[in-house]
Amino acid sequence: MKLRSPYWSKKLPADRADTAWDAIVIGSGMGGMTTAALLARLGRKVLVLEQHYIPGGFTHAFSRKGWTWDVGVHAVGEVTEHTMPGRLLKDLTGGRLEWASLGEVYDEFYWPEGFRIDFPNTPDKFRQNLINAFPDEVEAIDTYLRYVREVGGHMKGYYLARIVPDMASTPAEWLFARKAREWFLKSTDEVLDELTDNPQLKAVMVAQWGYYGSLPQRSSFAMQALVVRHFLWGGYYPVGGSGEIARGLLQTVSDAGGWTRIVADVEQILVEDGVAVGVRMADGEEIRAAKVISAAGIVSTVNRLLPEAERSREWAQEAVSGVAPASAHVCLYIGFKGDITQAGAGPANKWFYEVWESESDSWEVRTDQESFERAPCLYCSFPSLKDPEHDPGEELRHTGEVVTFVPWSVFEPWSGTRWRKRGPEYEAFKARLQDALLEEFLSHMPELRQHIDYVELSTPLSTEYFCRPVAGSIYGIEPTPERFANERLKPRCPVKNLYFSGSEVTTVGVMGAMMGGVLAAAAAEPWEVFQHVRSVM
Ligand SMILES: Cc1cc2nc3c(=O)[nH]c(=O)nc-3n(C[C@H](O)[C@H](O)[C@H](O)COP(=O)(O)OP(=O)(O)OC[C@H]3O[C@@H](n4cnc5c(N)ncnc54)[C@H](O)[C@@H]3O)c2cc1C
Repeated sequence: MKLRSPYWSKKLPADRADTAWDAIVIGSGMGGMTTAALLARLGRKVLVLEQHYIPGGFTHAFSRKGWTWDVGVHAVGEVTEHTMPGRLLKDLTGGRLEWASLGEVYDEFYWPEGFRIDFPNTPDKFRQNLINAFPDEVEAIDTYLRYVREVGGHMKGYYLARIVPDMASTPAEWLFARKAREWFLKSTDEVLDELTDNPQLKAVMVAQWGYYGSLPQRSSFAMQALVVRHFLWGGYYPVGGSGEIARGLLQTVSDAGGWTRIVADVEQILVEDGVAVGVRMADGEEIRAAKVISAAGIVSTVNRLLPEAERSREWAQEAVSGVAPASAHVCLYIGFKGDITQAGAGPANKWFYEVWESESDSWEVRTDQESFERAPCLYCSFPSLKDPEHDPGEELRHTGEVVTFVPWSVFEPWSGTRWRKRGPEYEAFKARLQDALLEEFLSHMPELRQHIDYVELSTPLSTEYFCRPVAGSIYGIEPTPERFANERLKPRCPVKNLYFSGSEVTTVGVMGAMMGGVLAAAAAEPWEVFQHVRSVM
């Protein structure tokens, strides 16, 4: 996989040096890249500023010793041309980005006592798998699947209401978001408790809560429904690896006269007389543009990038109150040699649940422990087996990833320290975590041990360092009912010409962040974006 590209660099190419920028986009995650590419498709010259040395945010890929891993792209739904988001993404990448199906099954779940269930790639097969496992619960399963479809549909109205200007937002909320409100204010548990009292069926229904990082007692049912609906037609993976997403979108930005600067750390958004006019970089450089779109997360933008005078205003405080970051995570990045398919690996993700009850969302680890209890859930992915273009070479090189949640508070004392320079106490703790997680993973897939050639653990401090979410969070704001009720979490704000993009505008996930990017562009250029989106629908 190629991590370099002619579409981004530290410094502007000579032919762009004097560009009068139509827009600056802060952050090159899926949200920022989508906004930038959509504005570029309207002919705007957009400058994307990314603090990391690889663009893409959580879609970026990285390499060590000949292996390449993705960071936050394991299974993505709704990317084919059968869906509106899929058609739009194709348009925004000029058809350069292709997706490979993970196959008939995209997620496999393993619970105690040998219970296993697969999530397949059609709604009918999904229903049938649930019924096969719980034959006495047909009514509950059918009602649940009906809710999933209904709520997903209602949430479209919710997002529509969020792009209208402030003065029209109250009637728009009433008109378009009323039905969604009836659902997003309920927790997932509340809805499932009305459907069934079978705890194992409930556990299976919420088995994918790890895709949004909030336990059923805390999450909004709207989020649960959106994720299940997202995957009704299966999961996909970018051909060539997740780095191809940035390559596809940022070429569109460049083709229209825009550019992406990496290692470009924005320190503050410049606001003059209530109007956003540009940004100041960490090295003091000021860059001006007609519009500024922050795709660095709404909470992060308010708390870190707004000038103090704006940050203390009522709207800004309302935006960040009552919302909390979703949990943090650790990830084992594994390099294999040999035929790992013979050892049980495949394109489908594997979820290993240690217990049926979902009472804790995290692996409860402490720095003073020599050994740890087992993590409640492991999420395992083999990216090289998903990518039809992966060349394993003579040594049959393959990759694996093992993710589990951990509390940010354990890592917080080292927040702000430099990657690989966090001192011996931290390195020893991290080594113990790595060994424990690897052993837990191998207890589920023992035959992989002989193929392991490289292992590296990322912690929430790596996430903080490379992607800058608040509290090292895996997914940004936790999708609770309060989060959906917060009327400030939308692309517009009272600062003129400042807009928000990305997953915190909509929901977590590659396509969630993409839709956040579309809403930001629609708020900035309503008429032209509407016309363009309609043309690809
Ligand atoms: C381990 C993991 C697994 C995941 N698995 C999946 C999956 O299988 N399927 C799926 O759909 N989703 C998955 N996700 C979620 C998905 O990747 C994210 O929700 C989505 O990519 C977020 O996009 P974003 O644009 O909102 O934010 P980000 O990707 O976080 O982008 C924000 C960008 O802003 C930059 N930035 C921040 N501050 C500044 C600054 N001051 N100056 C310049 N740049 C700045 C950051 O460096 C970053 O590049 C996963 C995420 C993780 C972490």
